[in-house]
Amino acid sequence: MQDVRVKTYPASKALLERARKSLAGGVSSQFRMFTSPHPMFYRRAAGSHIWDADGNELIDFTLAQGPLILGHSHPEVLRRVNEAIDDGQLFAGQFEQEVLLAEKLQQLIPAAERVRFSSSGSEAAHAVLRLARYATGKPKFIKFEGHYHGWFDSVSISVNPPAATPVGDPLPWGGGIPESVREDVVVLPWNDLEQVERTLHERGDEIGAIITEPIMANQGCIEPAPGYLAGLRDLCDRHNVALIFDEIITGFRVDLGGVQRRYGVTPDLAIFGKALASGFPLSAIVGLERFMAPLEQSEVYHAGTLNANNASVAAALATVELLEHDDEALFHRLAETGSTLRESLHALGQKHGLPLRTQGPGPMFHLGFTERSEIRDYRDTLDFDAARYGEFCTSMLALGVRLIGRGMWYVSAAHSAEDVERSLAAADTALGMLT
Ligand code: PLP
Repeated sequence: MQDVRVKTYPASKALLERARKSLAGGVSSQFRMFTSPHPMFYRRAAGSHIWDADGNELIDFTLAQGPLILGHSHPEVLRRVNEAIDDGQLFAGQFEQEVLLAEKLQQLIPAAERVRFSSSGSEAAHAVLRLARYATGKPKFIKFEGHYHGWFDSVSISVNPPAATPVGDPLPWGGGIPESVREDVVVLPWNDLEQVERTLHERGDEIGAIITEPIMANQGCIEPAPGYLAGLRDLCDRHNVALIFDEIITGFRVDLGGVQRRYGVTPDLAIFGKALASGFPLSAIVGLERFMAPLEQSEVYHAGTLNANNASVAAALATVELLEHDDEALFHRLAETGSTLRESLHALGQKHGLPLRTQGPGPMFHLGFTERSEIRDYRDTLDFDAARYGEFCTSMLALGVRLIGRGMWYVSAAHSAEDVERSLAAADTALGMLT
């Protein structure tokens, strides 16, 4: 048998070379550049499978970086979208489905006393920081190292600082970000309540918000330590600080009401996207009335030409209704599929004598190679053996399984028991080649 590690993708490669002459870097998002062995081209996808430009059929655990909670091209989602756009694609006025969706979010999400729709997670993060600053009258905010809240300037800080950067030193994420942005951000390590307490004690009069991924999904898929989110809630209340949960990944993925419903900690403001609309561009800004009221009075502005377009709203309504149906049966099944997969991958690591660590809830989890027995924060993730994981991903791709290069696995309701079995067989082979 040919060594799968040297498999080539001539059609993708040729398209990439051509693309680089028109598309900057051959891609439309920086994250798509970091794909092993190189950025790939795809032609078609359905359910849990995707076909690349060379005709390879792959089981997909990338799921468009999270949104495809029901899998690719779910027939009911597409039917509802087609039905909606038969009546028009964008009214730049209100329509009833938009209200239905907002009402649905109010029922499911504890903080959703009021809702606004935007088109991307980055825009939503921008809006909640503005709302938090206005409500508290304080310009600075706490952001945690390793957390990602989109690519806009104010939050493009300490996203993935190298080990040599001192903890807490606000490091811009690439060039073109004004130095002045650093002045408004206080960067802290995550999962360490004492540091937040000390910082608010010393600087609570200038800090208006804490923004956090409530599960640190973007680095290591780390769950909050027991009591951590409740502790943040308490500190925010004591210091007149807005607590913001960035649920762009966790929303409709770990629980239909987000981490806030699962853990019983209600933030002041929160943002949702990705799985909410099954791959159509939609994000939701939700918040307690006190924080959202300035939008009602036009004291704070939020806008967007494409906001709540008909296709995205129809996709979101269909997605949420399907996930809710029959006591959230689909949702529970996908969570179980994810847990089985995660546990079986862990067992394979042991079989091969590898320091393979998996963590995270079932619908998404992280896999990495590390000797650490506990991963609590960004700095712990710096020990992951990225080169080894890259090698594993390359082999998995050649064996018919598409993964994200930084270790996250997304699972959908379309992944079947057979998909899991085939993926585990591929992982067994790929891990065997690492030893
Ligand atoms: N917040 C989190 C936690 C994310 O993971 C992302 C994107 O991956 C964003 C915000 C930004 O969302 P978008 O890519 O839709 O702008």
